[in-house]
Amino acid sequence: MIEQGPAASADVAVIGAGPCGLFQVFELGLQGMSSLLFDSQARTGGQCRQLYPDKPIYDIPGLPRIDADRLIANLEEQIEPFKPQRVLNQEVVAIKRLDKGEGFQLTTHTGAVYRVRFVVVATGAGAMTPVPLRIPGIEQFLGRSLFYHVEEPRRHQGRRVAVLGGGDSALDWALALQSLAAEVVLVHRSSRLRAAPDTVNRYVALCERGEAQMLQGQVTAYAQDEHGELNALKVQCADGVVRRLDVDDVLVFFGMSPDIRSLRDWQLAMERFQVRVQPDTLETSAEGIFAIGDCNHYPGKRKLILCGFHEAALAAFAIGERAREREIPLEYTTTSPTLHRRLGVAAT
Ligand SMILES: Cc1cc2nc3c(=O)[nH]c(=O)nc-3n(C[C@H](O)[C@H](O)[C@H](O)COP(=O)(O)OP(=O)(O)OC[C@H]3O[C@@H](n4cnc5c(N)ncnc54)[C@H](O)[C@@H]3O)c2cc1C
Repeated sequence: MIEQGPAASADVAVIGAGPCGLFQVFELGLQGMSSLLFDSQARTGGQCRQLYPDKPIYDIPGLPRIDADRLIANLEEQIEPFKPQRVLNQEVVAIKRLDKGEGFQLTTHTGAVYRVRFVVVATGAGAMTPVPLRIPGIEQFLGRSLFYHVEEPRRHQGRRVAVLGGGDSALDWALALQSLAAEVVLVHRSSRLRAAPDTVNRYVALCERGEAQMLQGQVTAYAQDEHGELNALKVQCADGVVRRLDVDDVLVFFGMSPDIRSLRDWQLAMERFQVRVQPDTLETSAEGIFAIGDCNHYPGKRKLILCGFHEAALAAFAIGERAREREIPLEYTTTSPTLHRRLGVAAT
């Protein structure tokens, strides 16, 4: 490990735990550098897990076909020898350069502060945030009866739950809560549910047995009881009828949308909403801050996972050379005793 300042938490902060950020941790580990891995989400995986977990990917070298979720699980396994500190559910909002070349101080949205020598920005499409239910005033119930995540399923025990959406998250939670909640109603604007066929079939079977319900329509308003608590939704149904749905909790799963606000605040030179980098080192306009994956731009850039993996290797070499102030010779994982030691594998 590279020598650290007294307050440094790791050699490098990797901001974004999508496929490219995960592989960056691996490449830094091969260079003997420790990582702090940040993500605004509770789970690693970026777009692969948030947007298309069950879809097969066909253009990862050496893996003719792999589901996106499995690729992330494999990357997690691959970085395990380097034991990165994962800082999840934390959006990095500020990067401050410290005096006298002492690296950087990062601050997350909760005010937590971390110190590192180098930064790799791997924020991809941006911090993923849930697509909101757009009904004026409904946000006042957030965390009481309006939820975009299920953190504690038991909190919905015995309650009348409306699950809005037709994708995997909506169906998975509608199924999971069915035995816990007093009542579960899935509300989706279309008759076509986008979840895995097996999940859809299980939910439809529950509805046929009268153990759950499904409404095709859109929520247009809410009602409150005499204490000001949300107690019903108004649903404009596909058959033209407006129905009142008595509920205690509303779970919204309309998908995630990327937000690049914090990226703009870091004052890095940008091009076409991406961070401009040197293609040989992946360094940004700010010395010591690098950017890889979907968030960067250079001539010829393609937003592909395999390109991000290549960039992670180049950035790790550049950071290693900057830290050691000398050129780093190429070593192979097959034959290098140094890399075997770092990987924790026996030489063969
Ligand atoms: C439907 C679909 C299919 C695709 N199929 C393929 C394919 O077949 N092959 C292929 O190569 N590519 C494919 N892609 C593209 C591929 O998913 C992206 O190239 C890849 O995910 C980019 O990885 P990344 O790590 O750069 O960023 P992302 O996957 O976008 O991950 C970035 C992470 O950074 C986090 N983050 C952002 N800002 C912050 C912040 N300020 N603080 C903390 N965390 C932050 C986000 O929450 C996110 O988890 C597909 C994309 C989509 C949408």
